[in-house]
Amino acid sequence: MKIVLIGPPGSGKGTQGERLARRFGLEHTGVGDLLRAEVAAGSPIGQEAASYMDRGELVPDELILRLLVPRIFAAADAGGYLLDGFPRSVEQAEQIRAQAAEHGATPDAVIYLDVPRAELVRRILARAAVEERADDNEQTVDTRLQVFDEQTRPLIGYYRGRGLLRVIDADRPVDEVAAAILDELPPAAD
Ligand code: AMP
Repeated sequence: MKIVLIGPPGSGKGTQGERLARRFGLEHTGVGDLLRAEVAAGSPIGQEAASYMDRGELVPDELILRLLVPRIFAAADAGGYLLDGFPRSVEQAEQIRAQAAEHGATPDAVIYLDVPRAELVRRILARAAVEERADDNEQTVDTRLQVFDEQTRPLIGYYRGRGLLRVIDADRPVDEVAAAILDELPPAAD
């Protein structure tokens, strides 16, 4: 199973991604987590990515693709992937599309976690108090929500046009969202 999760910050991608990955025995590729690990390790990718992340902006595509493409293809070869945080723009989706098709790594389903803005802000600021993420503060939250609207939201139409999109009402308890996602997934194939 190859699953892409899309949603604004605070929509539950990380939480639902973990559950789905466990359920289907997939590698959970959380792009934000990978980037934070690179930053913590002080790697060249991390050093380049840090300032974009601190501002709540997208890290340049070239860097993201360098980090992710080998992982996505390796995971697809090993039985599937659960991608949480990539692609985050139509440009990113297009940059990997042809290569992914050739590699048998096109997603089986794209899940969009839909949550109203006021609830997103509430969740992110609540998480800030617990996780101490550098980008979970009021200024950056605004930027990240704007980046989602401008750069990531167009993916909804992009994947709808390809018949892959499943919209999930994610403004409800974690277990209900998880059940709704399972209902929407195609029967587990390869
Ligand atoms: P997240 O944990 O998914 O909210 O991601 C945290 C930050 O990592 C984002 O605000 C971006 O700066 C960066 N990031 C994550 N995924 C991507 C991506 N696909 N493209 C560019 N930047 C990304």
